[in-house]
Amino acid sequence: MNVGGKKVLVVGLGVSGYASGRLLARRGAKVKITEEVDSDSVQENVKKLLQYPAEFEIGRHTRDFCDNVDLVVTSPGVDSQALPLLLAREKQIPVIGELELGFRFCEAPIIAITGTNGKSTTVELIGNILALSGKHTVICGNIGNPLAGEVEKLTPGSVAVVEVSSFQLETVKEFRPHAAILLNVSEDHYDRHGDHGTYKREKFRVFENQSSGDWAVLHSDLCGDSLTADIKSRVVFFGGENTGSSGSISVNMNGGPEHIIKRSEVPLKGEHNMDNVSCAALVGRIMGVSDRVICDGIRSFKPLAHRFEKVADYMGVEFIDDSKATNIDATRRALRSMEKKVVLIAGGRDKGGDYTSMLPLMKERVKALVLIGEARDKMKNVFSSEVSVFEAKDMAEAVRRGADIASRGEAVMLSPMCSSFDMYLSYKERGDVFQSEVKKILEEN
Ligand code: ADP
Repeated sequence: MNVGGKKVLVVGLGVSGYASGRLLARRGAKVKITEEVDSDSVQENVKKLLQYPAEFEIGRHTRDFCDNVDLVVTSPGVDSQALPLLLAREKQIPVIGELELGFRFCEAPIIAITGTNGKSTTVELIGNILALSGKHTVICGNIGNPLAGEVEKLTPGSVAVVEVSSFQLETVKEFRPHAAILLNVSEDHYDRHGDHGTYKREKFRVFENQSSGDWAVLHSDLCGDSLTADIKSRVVFFGGENTGSSGSISVNMNGGPEHIIKRSEVPLKGEHNMDNVSCAALVGRIMGVSDRVICDGIRSFKPLAHRFEKVADYMGVEFIDDSKATNIDATRRALRSMEKKVVLIAGGRDKGGDYTSMLPLMKERVKALVLIGEARDKMKNVFSSEVSVFEAKDMAEAVRRGADIASRGEAVMLSPMCSSFDMYLSYKERGDVFQSEVKKILEEN
């Protein structure tokens, strides 16, 4: 892609906008950046870009500023009805996202990972395996460091392992990963995508531009799906019934499942993580890594924080931080992986999903439900007929209540089914507060 001398408007100045703006400026584009919000972090990004000849509009979008450009590069969080995007449509100016921009400048093959849940874990697992194999590997994308900000480190001999969200897939045009992975498609983000069909089609766009030399890696649940039948690259499956039931992890290639590593050797816990491991092993095989190195990559993996993370075991009660479970399916997987009875702390900002599908599992595994945040009433209405429900005004009260209710041999788990934005800046802050409240209880006793 040649952007030299072109007038390019970047919409948004968060991490994505910053990465796009910097890449474009370094490649000789005349960059203008418009950001609706004025905050400390935005001003930080302005400061970091002052060394480049860029123009800024912070705190608003205006027609004057956004008009008269050759290309618009948008960030994943920007509403399609935002003025710069409306204007681009009106004037028929091409619009691409940060992922597409990064792709166009990327010289390395890309492994793209998408799905409702498990992306970060699987990205890190694959990255660990490839790095151990001796390949120059860069892990990036939705994980916090956008591809557009990393492309300058990548050569044709490197490999980019990129976490891709469904929001980013909305704006792809030519994005073509050498290996594209779809981990799962379950209920999430109905607030933005509307219905399940739309959300699912959006996820399958990761395969859209692939051809016969590329790879599509999908969960075996998606085997018979009509959207899978339309994929043009080589399709392989991982996971499925063989992953969970035996003592080892299986990888499904064309000839059926092959066992690759004992479950007891895997540092990750929970059935859902066995799927992630099986997927990462399959990708390792596709990339020509030996089974020995794949197993080493899995064994040496350090589980990520706030994802089904055991934080304490106090007087026989286990405390688990699964703050990253921001949708129903993630919590379903966590509960299914628990053999003990659980006092579940849930709630936060509702995403428009249907909690009723959780009723049987709640009844079976949950001793009591402690609710926090905006979704309290909605959840209480659904669950109070089947489980004891308590409400807490904040995390401190929820953790204390949980610890009171749980007996020896049981667990207190934060797995909210909701986003954190009603009470916290991020799932990370929510998890950190949970962990510090647990610590306080331990110190007091
Ligand atoms: P993502 O990046 O897609 O949000 P994470 O690896 O950060 O994925 O995990 C998010 C949440 O989903 C955590 O609560 C985690 O325990 C759960 N999870 C991880 N892998 C899976 C999976 N394959 N299926 C369902 N839930 C999963």
